[in-house]
Amino acid sequence: MQVDVSLIVAAAGESKRFGEPKIFHEIFGRPLLFYTLYAFEKFKEISEIIVATRPEFVASVEEICSLIRKPAVVVEGGKSREESVANALKVAKGNYVLIHDGVRPCVSQRLISSILQELERYDAVIPALRPVETTLRASTEEVTRLNRDEILLVQTPQGFKKDLILTAVEKAGERLAEFSDESTLVMDVLGITPHFIDGDRDNIKVTFREDIAFILNKLIGEIRTGLGYDIHRLGVGRKLFIGGVHIEAPFGAVAHSDGDVLIHALIDALLGAAGLGDIGQHFPDTDPQYKGISSLVLLERTQKLLEQKGFWVLNIDSTVILEKPKLRPYIDQMKRKIADVLKMPAHRISIKGKRGEGMGSVGKSEAVEAIVNVLITKITQ
Ligand code: MG
Repeated sequence: MQVDVSLIVAAAGESKRFGEPKIFHEIFGRPLLFYTLYAFEKFKEISEIIVATRPEFVASVEEICSLIRKPAVVVEGGKSREESVANALKVAKGNYVLIHDGVRPCVSQRLISSILQELERYDAVIPALRPVETTLRASTEEVTRLNRDEILLVQTPQGFKKDLILTAVEKAGERLAEFSDESTLVMDVLGITPHFIDGDRDNIKVTFREDIAFILNKLIGEIRTGLGYDIHRLGVGRKLFIGGVHIEAPFGAVAHSDGDVLIHALIDALLGAAGLGDIGQHFPDTDPQYKGISSLVLLERTQKLLEQKGFWVLNIDSTVILEKPKLRPYIDQMKRKIADVLKMPAHRISIKGKRGEGMGSVGKSEAVEAIVNVLITKITQ
């Protein structure tokens, strides 16, 4: 059977021990939930993402989903974890599901692959760890030794044939809220033993403040900066594009493409930071396919080149030097265009306008310039 998987992410927790909603805790400008979703992005078997969250978080979670390339929907969670998962199951289209905690951002590619692979042979696949510490049972009366070899610590993502987990949810009925995860639900209600595979020690469920230092260290690899500069001559009878936005002006940039000075400098900064050469090498202006092309298309291709190397953008700071008109009214729109192409939060993009003070080619409105500085990182997922 073809494995078509819906990823269900449980993100309706209260975060009582953490002090703020954990899924929104920002790490290098992106919410924790983003990192969790991003971990699944490369898997072709996963055709959709369904996030179950608290009603008051729906809009914010939708915004996080927009940073991910896979189709994603957000559903309202129920009072308990299992009720939230049940709501998500109602809209799941795949014949299999992976159910994952929204606050386990360090899930490894190896673990996800193993579960997907095992789902071809088993209807329920659960990752679990053996405890390393001595394990005791502490009741109110006495403390007794437990055989460590008989203990499993259960993690997510948990993989199921969708029909199986749907049957378990239906059969559980009123008892659904009793279960703290899906492995216990199917074992108890259906009386089956899932196939257990080795979990991952780093796949922690973020619970305490201290966990943030761990995931920071785990997720973020090397950090690099890049610098880009571009200048274009201005001429009448051309349209002026800056930051992907059409600027009302009596002149435009003279160029082979749309002459977007800011996007060109940004592309050079990104390529430079990633050690991938420069804009001329990747998109030569002698190539007819780039004639009049929107520079945002080139930016998107650049982003893909970086993504293939595991890089993504943390921060952009830029200055555009143009004598007139004033850029301020266009800046928010430019940020949104760039954020959309690079799949990054707009608040991590800075665009500043400057004048040439009547001096030199820029000051005489004969040219427009841009300088861009970027910070990129290699994500280690
Ligand atoms: Mg250029």
